Amino acid sequence: MNAEIDTDVVIVGAGFAGLYMLHSVRGLGLNARVIEAADDVGGTWYWNRYPGARCDVPSMEYSYGWDDDLQQEWEWTERYATQPEILSYVEHVAERFDLRRDITFETRVVASDFDETTDTWTVSTDAGEGIRCRFVVLATGCLSSANMPDFEGRDDFAGRSFHTGQWPHEMVDFSGRRVVVIGTGSSAIQSIPLIAAEADSVTVMQRTANYAIPAHNKPLDPEEVAEIKADYRNWREKARDSTAAFGGHRPRMDVSAKAVPADERQATFEERWAYGGLGFGGAFNDLMLDQESNVLAADFFRSKVAEIVEDSDLAQKLSPQTILGCKRICVDTDYFATYNRTNVSLVDVSATPIERITATGVVVAGAEYEADDIVYATGFDAMTGTIQRIDITGRNGLSLKDKWSAGPLTYLGLGVEGFPNLFLITGPGSPSVLTNMIASIEQHVEWIRDVIGSMTEKGQSTIEADGDAEARWVEHVNAVAGLTLFNNCSSWYLGANVPGKPRVFMPLPGFPDYKVKCDEVAAAGYEGWVLA
Ligand code: FAD
Ligand code: NAP
Repeated sequence: MNAEIDTDVVIVGAGFAGLYMLHSVRGLGLNARVIEAADDVGGTWYWNRYPGARCDVPSMEYSYGWDDDLQQEWEWTERYATQPEILSYVEHVAERFDLRRDITFETRVVASDFDETTDTWTVSTDAGEGIRCRFVVLATGCLSSANMPDFEGRDDFAGRSFHTGQWPHEMVDFSGRRVVVIGTGSSAIQSIPLIAAEADSVTVMQRTANYAIPAHNKPLDPEEVAEIKADYRNWREKARDSTAAFGGHRPRMDVSAKAVPADERQATFEERWAYGGLGFGGAFNDLMLDQESNVLAADFFRSKVAEIVEDSDLAQKLSPQTILGCKRICVDTDYFATYNRTNVSLVDVSATPIERITATGVVVAGAEYEADDIVYATGFDAMTGTIQRIDITGRNGLSLKDKWSAGPLTYLGLGVEGFPNLFLITGPGSPSVLTNMIASIEQHVEWIRDVIGSMTEKGQSTIEADGDAEARWVEHVNAVAGLTLFNNCSSWYLGANVPGKPRVFMPLPGFPDYKVKCDEVAAAGYEGWVLA
């Protein structure tokens, strides 16, 4: 059975997930190799260097909690850290734990094949290498494959084109330029105010108006930081008990928006708005469960847009009519106020989609909007896109692409029947993108570490999701999503942003219940998994 292996574990990706996985595998006394397409660590924070990029989960929470010295010593400067600051944190971690020596950069994994006779995987790279190993961990990221709409004439554009998720490393100067920004998701909402402050003109092409709550970003108060650090471990534990694994110290109100008098409701929304950030969605306990409650929050939001945007027609166009929170809520700094500038205009491309790109601009409804630069803030082929770009073949020649052709099937978002010893970090079917992702990543890495450790101790060679357990899990995820309002819009959570992608709600709402379930599964000897 035993074949020569090159390393125990191959980890694909060197973002937050891959780095912690590498450190954890080393802690078991096993070997690992990380393969990373970029030329350094950082993942999301390596690729997304657009102006204004920063986290929307507070820095004190959007960071690793697994090493107390690290979390005590690292000093975040702002409530929401910028991309350069997060990247330098990740680089510091790589340095501090000597991680780079096991990472092969500028190399892409193109295929992975399971050999049933030896219970090993061979991971193939675009450098022509085949690495034989026992385990493969896909730390490939949920938002790591840019979605570039296939507009007619896209390559004819004579100016500069940028995708927010593949931003150049050198400074991009927009001064004196006419810029078209396509999209109004989080990346657009963060970058538009900064681009507008520099450019000659900015034309925003909006297909769907979006919800953005003010960040009220500010330097961190040293006293507040000291207070958190005095009890950091428990503080993070508390956060992990909340639905989205952050903000545990400011929990969701445990009452329906409809159950309180109008003035009290208004005061609660005002308080959440004034505090800022994603906690707005936790103003009441049923905003994602009850359409009427959701409308109350959405009405409040629209009233704020009307207050900020001076031109009432424009305010109307910028006011979302969709379910609040159904697409990920954005966190902004001066996004709506930016439309009061004379050099910023909005083009509605919902009823009249972008027709084509020419050498000199973007055509909508027969009119050309001239541009020197086009910024594609058009998002990602999320959650499954990056995994599906690798040819993964499991038992009996089964390809993951075929298995997932109607949507992803997983057990706990961690593994897939037919693909032994292959683990996903923050895979579809787990809370992942609905949470503080660092918390989800840590929970997955530790679960995978423990099972690999246990198998190694017991001399077990394979672990594979059981087919029935997987089917029941997929049903469970659908049932939970069905209780919410998440299915009511065309979000990337559903794959709706990528033409032809199956529409299936991919993440699982509710981090604490999920975590308990994973712990129970492990405690019951890995229930629902077949160990051999
Ligand atoms: P990634 O950081 O995406 O890393 C995956 C790595 O795998 C990449 O470096 C990629 O190059 C590599 N890779 C992929 N495929 C291959 C292959 N075939 N071969 C070799 N290498 C490969 N989440 C939050 O919780 N809070 C936030 O505030 C937040 N802000 C975000 C802001 C932006 C702009 C974006 C895009 C996402 C944000 N996210 C946020 C989500 C973010 O992706 C996660 O928080 C986290 O960084 C993901 O880490 P990861 O290691 O799982 O994946
Ligand atoms: P996104 O949320 O998917 O937004 C993409 C935007 O492009 C949407 O407005 C979309 O419109 C538009 N679009 C896509 N295809 C289009 C087309 N063919 N024509 C016109 N418009 C088109 O992507 P994102 O902004 O990069 O954010 C993705 C996720 O990354 C976020 O939800 C968040 O999880 C994370 N992120 C976080 C932060 C942060 O604040 N920390 C910042 C950036 C990203 P429709 O809505 O109509 O589809």
